[in-house]
Amino acid sequence: MNIVDVTAELFTYKSKTVRDSEGHAHPGPEHDATQCLVRIIADEGAEGYCFGANPSVVEHVIKPAIAGLDAFYREELWQRLREWQRLHLGTLTDRVLGVVDMALWDFAGRSLQQPVYTLLGAFRDKVPAYASTMCGDDLEEGLNSPEAYAEFALACKARGYKAFKLHTMMPPLPGTPDPKLDVACCRAVREAVGDDMVLMLDCYHYYNREQALYIGKELEKLNFYWFEEPMAEHSTSSYVWLTQQLAIPVVGPETAEGKMFTRAEWIVRGASDISRAGVGDVGGITPLMKVAHLCESFGVRMEVHGGGAGNLHALCAMGIPGEYYERGLLHPFLNYEQPSPWLNALDDPMDDEGNVHVSQGPGLGQDIDFDYIREHRVRPT
Ligand SMILES: [Mg+2]
Repeated sequence: MNIVDVTAELFTYKSKTVRDSEGHAHPGPEHDATQCLVRIIADEGAEGYCFGANPSVVEHVIKPAIAGLDAFYREELWQRLREWQRLHLGTLTDRVLGVVDMALWDFAGRSLQQPVYTLLGAFRDKVPAYASTMCGDDLEEGLNSPEAYAEFALACKARGYKAFKLHTMMPPLPGTPDPKLDVACCRAVREAVGDDMVLMLDCYHYYNREQALYIGKELEKLNFYWFEEPMAEHSTSSYVWLTQQLAIPVVGPETAEGKMFTRAEWIVRGASDISRAGVGDVGGITPLMKVAHLCESFGVRMEVHGGGAGNLHALCAMGIPGEYYERGLLHPFLNYEQPSPWLNALDDPMDDEGNVHVSQGPGLGQDIDFDYIREHRVRPT
């Protein structure tokens, strides 16, 4: 089935999330925001969908690259777009590539009336989740102190989460970054939830080696499960240095570009204990599964970065962990159990045991409210 059109529909919604000067999300006053629905349209009227990207890159880069080609040839399309990235680095990011790849997987699933995870080769239909917090803040009753993290961890435990990951205090928050404050937050959470909850830390990403080693050693005393991205990931040597000295598993790379190639280099260098990738980091489900198979071949664990339908379907097709689904980002002020305005249902519903269940609907299984999108569409000017 050949692709006859690729469209991007921009629409508005009300958001209660704002971003600080470093780009971290926090709760904030309600304001207008936009989202984009990317639609792959093939002959015979078959369609596939994914949210993200923007109309300009879809019209000027994606559509010219893949129009007229077979929508079922995902590997060919992904490789073609990957090569196009070389001359479109500023617009065709891995995040955009990931949206197109996921829309193609959704297309295949909807066309064949199968969920994506069964097309990939199903392994399971539910995944244990960890509660992944927003970064710290200075909001009254927010995540503003070690005690506040502890209280929120208890609330997440009561909701059913068996695991909890702190994103701690980071710039531009005054007095940060501070390794001792990060450790104090971790200690307060451990003391509150007891020994039976799995805990992880994702702290400020630009500590130096000594600071990272200090935090890692303290996490070992607190029986944390993993230690994530404490230093700049482009310094592979720093991660080799850290991993050699810590017993706690070091997780990465996460945000470093380079898709499966970077993960392979980290494994060969011994730069982390657990590899890491998500659909938004490496350019979709297609390369995420390559990373999973790479890790399986080397006997290395991997953990999937971020939530959403694409990551969940990939996790349900992995024979090696991907042990956890990252659910969030969570904050005491926000109701995560409410679907996005453009969806009729959550992508990642969680039961009382802390397991997220994958949709059995065709494709990515997203229950899209097309009426909402039509009514809130931003008309081209
Ligand atoms: Mg992270």
